[in-house]
Amino acid sequence: MNKEISEKENCIFCKIINGEIPSNKVYEDEDTFAFLDINPVNIGHTLLVPKKHSQNIFDIETETLQKITPILKKLSLSIKEAVGADGINIISNNGGAAGQLVFHLHLHIIPRFSDDGLKHWHGKNYSKEEMSETAEKIKLNLKN
Ligand code: 5GP
Ligand code: ZN
Repeated sequence: MNKEISEKENCIFCKIINGEIPSNKVYEDEDTFAFLDINPVNIGHTLLVPKKHSQNIFDIETETLQKITPILKKLSLSIKEAVGADGINIISNNGGAAGQLVFHLHLHIIPRFSDDGLKHWHGKNYSKEEMSETAEKIKLNLKN
């Protein structure tokens, strides 16, 4: 069995999509699936996934990514309304170092409340040189 097939067969989110593992589904169409996170940051925390398996942002096809964006907007609005949230965080962890635990690309849609007490990351400082060097490096590595 090649690596790609073995990854898909052991993927917990592929199993949720095909109904082998139960979930609280909130949306489904031909290409996308969304369900409640089992350990929500706040009530209504939803995971939006493309049905086609890819590990994360590094290997997903652009076409697959494009298919989920209209649904991201639709779901964000309906989740905000449903739980009476004041805002929404949209987060995707890509790679183990970024906190990714499930290697099937997913977007966390997290309802936020003015008084939920959750804090954002602190920003670092840059020198001007480091900042412009970093921007140049990123531009050099841009691919089509
Ligand atoms: P990651 O760190 O990979 O971005 O987050 C994976 C998310 O998937 C976590 O927030 C976790 O609570 C959620 N999760 C993991 N396993 C299951 C499951 O079996 N069912 C549901 N509904 N959510 C899950
Ligand atoms: Zn998968």
